[in-house]
Amino acid sequence: MIVNLISDTVTKPTPEMLEYMMNAEVGDDVFKHDPTVNKLQEKVARMFGKEDSLFFPSGTMANQAAIKLHTNPGDKMFCDKWAHVFNYEGGGAAFNSGVSSHLIDGHRGMFTAEQLEKAISGRADIHVPYSRLVCIENTTNKGGGACWDINELKKIQKLTVDNNLAYHLDGARLFNALVAKDETPVQYGELFDTISICMSKGLGAPIGSLLVGSKEHIAKALRIRKLFGGAMRQVGYMAAAVDYALDNHVERLAEDHNRAKHLGEALENSPLIKKVEPIETNIVIFYVADGVDENEFVNKLAAKDILLISMGEGKLRMVTHLDFTDDMLEKTVSEIGKLKL
Ligand SMILES: *Cc1c(COP(=O)(O)O)cnc(C)c1O
Repeated sequence: MIVNLISDTVTKPTPEMLEYMMNAEVGDDVFKHDPTVNKLQEKVARMFGKEDSLFFPSGTMANQAAIKLHTNPGDKMFCDKWAHVFNYEGGGAAFNSGVSSHLIDGHRGMFTAEQLEKAISGRADIHVPYSRLVCIENTTNKGGGACWDINELKKIQKLTVDNNLAYHLDGARLFNALVAKDETPVQYGELFDTISICMSKGLGAPIGSLLVGSKEHIAKALRIRKLFGGAMRQVGYMAAAVDYALDNHVERLAEDHNRAKHLGEALENSPLIKKVEPIETNIVIFYVADGVDENEFVNKLAAKDILLISMGEGKLRMVTHLDFTDDMLEKTVSEIGKLKL
């Protein structure tokens, strides 16, 4: 039994998901002739109370298309210093859109409306880049799966409206936040101009993300997706996997969150661990005690078929998901308890 806690992207389609995929009716989506894709896009738009949505091969491409559709070259976007759109998308905002990033010094990947208000002051000055976009991430990846307080998001929305800024949500793991906070997609659809969601993370589809927004924004996104090389053909098989995941794998995210909390408790009890970050969803970030070599910690667990990654400087990460079972949890807790370096 190999326990893979490296990421929630390591899941394999379940037999039921595969069967659902194999039975999908498909067509050429470039001609909008794929009924499974069309149905999925309508379903997700409706779910968020938005006019339209568009299927993408990756979350990165969905975010990059959003940045491009909201901005012109030379503009500036605001995001947290830990944001995926800044740190982990290959410099795409600069490369694809010619946009610079104004990084806000938030806490666990989240900033406040007050911080944003300070950051956007002086924007009428012709020396400074034109401010166009605010990008939020929920849950935060680098912030250890932390969830935003929706009231702060509302305050930020008001600022974006008052200052004529677009408001994009990188919701790669938004469903984890919705389940953890008992919130609804419509509440988020009301707040943001565009939202990207990743179906290949905790929801367990092999591929696929969606961007939701107004008809006008999604029409722009369709052209940009083509420009980025992301127009797909008989992709209904993949849309079917996403459709299946939305119907069957959302509520169960609570199980991932519970198992993450159990892992956190086991780590708290280990003398080898200095600190475990608060666990709100499915990401567990922790630090080895002084004098403990993090690579040795990773390697010793790997020798027991338990896989996790180091994030450098004594920081380690485990992510729970669809393929991480109670048996695997039990084994991991037991091995952490026995571990000696
Ligand atoms: C995974 C992730 C993405 C998109 O990733 P892809 O691998 O391109 O699908 C975007 N934002 C966050 C916060 C993520 O964790």
